[in-house]
Amino acid sequence: MELNVHLRRSQNQSYTIHLGSGSVSVLDVEFERFAETHGVALISDRNVYALYGSKLERSIRKRFSHILTLLVPAGERSKSRWRKASIEDAMIREELGRDSLVIALGGGVVGDLAGYVAATYLRGLPYVQVPTTLLAQVDSSIGGKVAINTKAGKNLVGAFHQPVAVLADIDFLSTLPKRQFLSGLSELIKHGIIADRHLFEQLEENLDRILDMDVASLTQALYRSMAVKAKVVQKDEKEGGLRKILNWGHTLGHAVEALSNYRLLHGECVSIGMALEARLCRHLGWLSRQDEQREILLLQRAGLPIQLPAGISGHEVVKKTQIDKKARAGHVRYLVHDKIGSMSSVDGTYTVQIPSSEVLACLS
Ligand code: NAD
Repeated sequence: MELNVHLRRSQNQSYTIHLGSGSVSVLDVEFERFAETHGVALISDRNVYALYGSKLERSIRKRFSHILTLLVPAGERSKSRWRKASIEDAMIREELGRDSLVIALGGGVVGDLAGYVAATYLRGLPYVQVPTTLLAQVDSSIGGKVAINTKAGKNLVGAFHQPVAVLADIDFLSTLPKRQFLSGLSELIKHGIIADRHLFEQLEENLDRILDMDVASLTQALYRSMAVKAKVVQKDEKEGGLRKILNWGHTLGHAVEALSNYRLLHGECVSIGMALEARLCRHLGWLSRQDEQREILLLQRAGLPIQLPAGISGHEVVKKTQIDKKARAGHVRYLVHDKIGSMSSVDGTYTVQIPSSEVLACLS
């Protein structure tokens, strides 16, 4: 199965997402476009490399003799300035030039880190995303947002740099720990809630099959979910307006993620954020109680959290949102969600400033 991401700004930035069982083998076909490429930097984390690295390396070696494999420890901490610099130093030592290609093999952490290295190394190298988590397949590998974290917060330093191809092989998901799978499911459900009612209904109907890793149901859901992300990015590559809808659940979710000291996974926090933001939209009279309940029920059935964890108060969450990078002078804007599959905009603006007292009322 294939999906194309057409970016209007520049024809040569468009790329194909290959989805399906065994789709990583398409790498060979993609390589044909890189006849002039001499070096490859394969960036992965140690967990993923142990499972899939040598196989991928063998297929890269068939085409390119100069491969530099760079491994980082698994986990969010690897999205750091220090890791980025050490990867760049290794690439410089190996004399990887502008005729090099970066391949990111892993979840969102590796994709964001390797993508950001590719965005800045010698002012930009092409890179291929080979996402191995559900979250990375439906979300982070598509759209070109790449970043690292700083002590002050997540993704504070980054760029927009589109990949040249995305190879989403669902076979990778067979080894993914259940908790990580569910975390990715949260972003998949998000795409149904914000832009595709049919996807949402399919998920309601097929959730048990998806949780049992039924390949057909999973592929169908992944395809529709990726299509939502691709469509939004095509219309608004640099988050001038519409792309903001992808942040559904993230305003409160990011605050919870930071307050949990990153013990909770990203998708888990987004799930909590989506449940709470749905409650807020219902409280403000935008969303019906019935749609709110359906959304929360689906998250719950998927085994995702929907409430603030013990030890984190509504007050702390609201305070944290006020110092988020998206807040302006402490004023926080929230997305206007009006029904399943739709977000509302007023004059092209999808967010509205909400007083913290209203938000707090929904968090307690
Ligand atoms: P991750 O990359 O940390 O991967 C989760 C864990 O699963 C890691 O331990 C990894 O080693 C392991 N793993 C990966 N694939 C595996 C497989 N197939 N089998 C077994 N284990 C495997 O986490 P993630 O959830 O993929 O990504 C989270 C990151 O994505 C966060 O940093 C978040 O900010 C970022 N993100 C970025 C965007 C974007 O648009 N760029 C969007 C959403 C999230």
